[in-house]
Amino acid sequence: MEELPEKDATQKTCLSCGSLLSGRFGKKFCSDQCRAQFNNRRKNKEEKWITHLNRILRKNRTILKTLNPTGHSTVRIEFLKDHGFDDRFYTHQYKTAKGEIYYFCYEFDYQLISKEKVIIVNWQKYMTPESHLNN
Ligand SMILES: [Zn+2]
Repeated sequence: MEELPEKDATQKTCLSCGSLLSGRFGKKFCSDQCRAQFNNRRKNKEEKWITHLNRILRKNRTILKTLNPTGHSTVRIEFLKDHGFDDRFYTHQYKTAKGEIYYFCYEFDYQLISKEKVIIVNWQKYMTPESHLNN
């Protein structure tokens, strides 16, 4: 039986393919190809998270849009959740001068009016990202 070479604790291995590295101190990969492969894998992992979060946000947006045909609707939070709404996720907030906070999923938004109820309102012109630039 062939004996495996004893692993030197100071011996580094390529982060991508695991092969032993030789050469300059601080080297992490055996080749440019391995470096690119490693970075792509990491990027794909991040992209998966972004895609996942975008899916939740888009779903929330669709629910707000669907449940607010008149442009001004009061609904129970449970009603939103029954439709699959996840209130942990929103794209941004808008705070009025009175301190009321609107939670947006893209251009559709809602405001908590009590512990159980929200009011869904349509996107107002003064809430657009561009409006802040004019102030
Ligand atoms: Zn390698």
